Amino acid sequence: MPKKILIVGGGLAGTIVGNGLSRKLGPELAKGEVVITMLGATDQHMYQPGLLYIPFGRIRESELFRDQRKVLDRRVVFHVDPVTHIDVDKQAVSTKSGKTHGYDYLVLATGSRCMPQNIPGMSEAAHWFYELDAARKMRDALDKFQGGKVVINVNAPHKCPVAPLEITFMLYEYFEAKGILDKVQITYTYPIGRLHALEPVAHWALPQMEQRGIKYETFFNTKSVDPKAKTITSEEGVTLPFDLLVTIPPHQGQQVIADSNLGKGGWVPTNPKTLHREGSTNVFVVGDTTNIPISKAGSTAHFEADTLIDNLTSLLTEGRWARDYDGKVYCFVETGLKTGTYVWFNYTTPPNPGPPSQMIHWFKLAYNRLYWLSARGLL
Ligand SMILES: Cc1cc2nc3c(=O)[nH]c(=O)nc-3n(C[C@H](O)[C@H](O)[C@H](O)COP(=O)(O)OP(=O)(O)OC[C@H]3O[C@@H](n4cnc5c(N)ncnc54)[C@H](O)[C@@H]3O)c2cc1C
Repeated sequence: MPKKILIVGGGLAGTIVGNGLSRKLGPELAKGEVVITMLGATDQHMYQPGLLYIPFGRIRESELFRDQRKVLDRRVVFHVDPVTHIDVDKQAVSTKSGKTHGYDYLVLATGSRCMPQNIPGMSEAAHWFYELDAARKMRDALDKFQGGKVVINVNAPHKCPVAPLEITFMLYEYFEAKGILDKVQITYTYPIGRLHALEPVAHWALPQMEQRGIKYETFFNTKSVDPKAKTITSEEGVTLPFDLLVTIPPHQGQQVIADSNLGKGGWVPTNPKTLHREGSTNVFVVGDTTNIPISKAGSTAHFEADTLIDNLTSLLTEGRWARDYDGKVYCFVETGLKTGTYVWFNYTTPPNPGPPSQMIHWFKLAYNRLYWLSARGLL
């Protein structure tokens, strides 16, 4: 009987795992000793970091999408059939079409989702760029905006640790280029007592904001938004008026994870080094859906996926463990419309953002196109 590897979720992490395993287990796949199957919710693969540029009209929507079948190695059996239940005791995964898939190894890579509806009034009054329709609406709102109070409101948890800072600096330069900066007051809110969860990034961001005259409100845990009065209020009792509200909505994992009792809020308890689901030896978790207390980012998903590829290959071909995940994350950070910097860090080395430069901004733009090679495992 072939060993069955089942991947749930065909986003960034699941795709890299599927492609990497296909390459490393080529001989075993050819001999029928291993079968890799992926269950996805859609036939389209979206490059989510590209959404950052939609409100500014700086990326074509067609650049964000590819057919998942074309991104995926042809040796991976791919079904568009959303998973409705995962039973790790019976090693069985059920799908919307009524099928049941067994497995020897299960890879959970279902990502995370925005939940603006969790905060009263937010969906009606706020703009966000984390989803395509919302990013389009934000672009239309920016087109019409002629000045006033702009609140950039960050909620946790959320994916892409640096996107809130990027949108703040990009908006600043967008208003400047539009010639309305003198009519705009930007206020950035953050739920804890500094500007970013990563302390060195918070220290770096402070002078960047002060130089630009951007106000900030820390310890701001959003309680509600009043769409009529155009105000946003925190649990701490602070109310801010706005003419334009841009939010990073709070996130949750997928419903199927919570419904299958695999993790509260859809976050799966995961060993931070081995990436095992806590309590399982044949269930692995990669990408946003883990509960590991590090940034939920594409690069996190990528480095986790690389680790898992090595480990599953070694387990299947040599019966040994290869290596642990070291917590590596690497993110480009736009610091405006023309400059950028980057952060990298792991479990033992903190981030240390450097001075913004044009070159790093160009690297980020180049990576937006190279992503498709990266997803195929060629980069
Ligand atoms: C605006 C924005 C900017 C970003 N910028 C950056 C950046 O600069 N750098 C960076 O590193 N990261 C960035 N990210 C974050 C990055 O995109 C995510 O962290 C990454 O996509 C996570 O990968 P994943 O595979 O865990 O989840 P996803 O890529 O979201 O994939 C999850 C997949 O699971 C599927 N799925 C869900 N439920 C089911 C189900 N029931 N059955 C089957 N399939 C299911 C989904 O359809 C999806 O295909 C950004 C994200 C956004 C939104």
